[in-house]
Amino acid sequence: MGTVVSIEADAPEAALARAFGWFREVEAVCSRFDETSPLRQLPVGVATPASPILFEAVRFALKVAEQTQGAFDPTLGSHMAGRGYRRHYVTGAISDAPGAPEANFRDVVLDEDRRTILLKRSLTLDLGAVAKGLAVDAAARELQPFRDFCIDAGGDLYCGGKNRSGEPWSVGIRHPRERNELMDRLRVSDCAVCTSGDYERGAHIIDPRDTAATCGLASATVVAPTAMLADALATAAFVLGPEQGIALLDRMGVEGLLITPDLARHQTAGFGHA
Ligand code: AMP
Ligand code: MG
Repeated sequence: MGTVVSIEADAPEAALARAFGWFREVEAVCSRFDETSPLRQLPVGVATPASPILFEAVRFALKVAEQTQGAFDPTLGSHMAGRGYRRHYVTGAISDAPGAPEANFRDVVLDEDRRTILLKRSLTLDLGAVAKGLAVDAAARELQPFRDFCIDAGGDLYCGGKNRSGEPWSVGIRHPRERNELMDRLRVSDCAVCTSGDYERGAHIIDPRDTAATCGLASATVVAPTAMLADALATAAFVLGPEQGIALLDRMGVEGLLITPDLARHQTAGFGHA
């Protein structure tokens, strides 16, 4: 996933190995950059059985797409590729990403009973906004028996229980412009904190309503019960901008902090009091 994953836990080697293994597994299933991945192998026009990981990731992404009326859209693969995001972060190989320009999330149809995914027209799924969160949650399930742990996947965190001093975990929220400064610090336990920023990989979040890079926010941080929810909503809020972003977080019952390029803070009522 092009990021460093670190885990702090008092857990046996085998449990840690299983936790780390989920990042490789989710990546193998959900990578847009690997033409042999199950995600890329979905055919057009044929309802195809999907593995639990792929089905859950797509189902969840489609829900967020509906909630945001398509500002968040997991079918933006070809638009992302068109903007130059086409290179596999390990191999450097360039992958193409087919897709009709007008394709959108409504062209993806799930069958909940048969667990199939149907692409109604040519498109390339991009689960970049939810895959890390999904992997963090899967890793967290492996470590739950050991209660106190923290998983950090480059800006997407899940903190279980307490830290070594018996306190809630302390999570810093990076200043979007000063690399070594923090904007805020949170105390959290048994929840996820995920941030989308324009400083990580350039303007890698696009607004499908005009398919230009968005520019209303410098960073969006969401605190939620699961990392997949926090990850997806951070990306979604980033696209929506400060006002609509906060409205979305309120509607979804999560807390968050949105920071504009001129460093104005917009936050939900309960942010920082969790
Ligand atoms: P994150 O780092 O979690 O904010 O996710 C960024 C990734 O989400 C990008 O690299 C794309 O793969 C994907 N993405 C970009 N724009 C959107 C969007 N409007 N809706 C859904 N996914 C997006
Ligand atoms: Mg995200």
